[in-house]
Amino acid sequence: MKRDLRQSQRGWRDTRGAFGRPGPRARCNLSRRAFTLIELLVVISIIAILMGILLPSLNRARKQAQKIACQSNLRQMGIALQTYLPDFEYRLPPSSCHIDEPNDHWLRVLTRYTKEQLLFHCPSDKGKKFVNWDRPLGEQKEARYSSFAVNALLDPIHYRYGTRSNRYNSVNNIRRPMSCIWISEAPDTESFRLADHIHPETWEGSVDYAKRFIAWDRHQGTSHYLFADGHAEGLRFEQTYEYPGVCNWYPEAAPKWPENP
Ligand SMILES: [Zn+2]
Ligand SMILES: [Zn+2]
Repeated sequence: MKRDLRQSQRGWRDTRGAFGRPGPRARCNLSRRAFTLIELLVVISIIAILMGILLPSLNRARKQAQKIACQSNLRQMGIALQTYLPDFEYRLPPSSCHIDEPNDHWLRVLTRYTKEQLLFHCPSDKGKKFVNWDRPLGEQKEARYSSFAVNALLDPIHYRYGTRSNRYNSVNNIRRPMSCIWISEAPDTESFRLADHIHPETWEGSVDYAKRFIAWDRHQGTSHYLFADGHAEGLRFEQTYEYPGVCNWYPEAAPKWPENP
């Protein structure tokens, strides 16, 4: 270290003239090394232009990658569901509307039926507070279970479609499983603190009200939905729910509206 310093001091002395002023070689080196203000501004503006061109496309690529990761995650849930169903007489896993045991949460149940690690958080979900499953849930009332929510109308023990009429106690009783949504993306709102399902029967045909319970804009104006047959799609919310017209939420009528919603 010391030798380096001495060397550099010697190097500096060498470039000086006989009376301690910078010699001709030093002046020449200095003028060759220095940037003029204009050169500096040109370089900065070129960098700014390049960043202006590259950043939006990088951002777009990042969002696209997140979207693909989310959709393939939902597909994995669909595959896990196909393995789960035969073990449970084709009943869909119940929601937290009826169960309190954290280990029976539908998403945790599905993870036991897939080799791939299921994502509990969509990569585009900006929410921060998620449940730590190793700690008592009672101490985490502000946290969310996941970025996803199940449709309570398909819950095998739902008060209306389960225990009363018992019609949807099996996925085989859903009229068109490929048109009926089971999982949607849930927004980072108060209603999803320690909650994992939605109640479409409370929406009463209002798209604006329904959108409070769906992260309809999570992926550039669209959101992902897993249907009861196990396929996943990215759709605008209105493509799933618009009165009169399409309704992918009621098991007895999807993709139409039921007679008495
Ligand atoms: Zn409920
Ligand atoms: Zn997502």
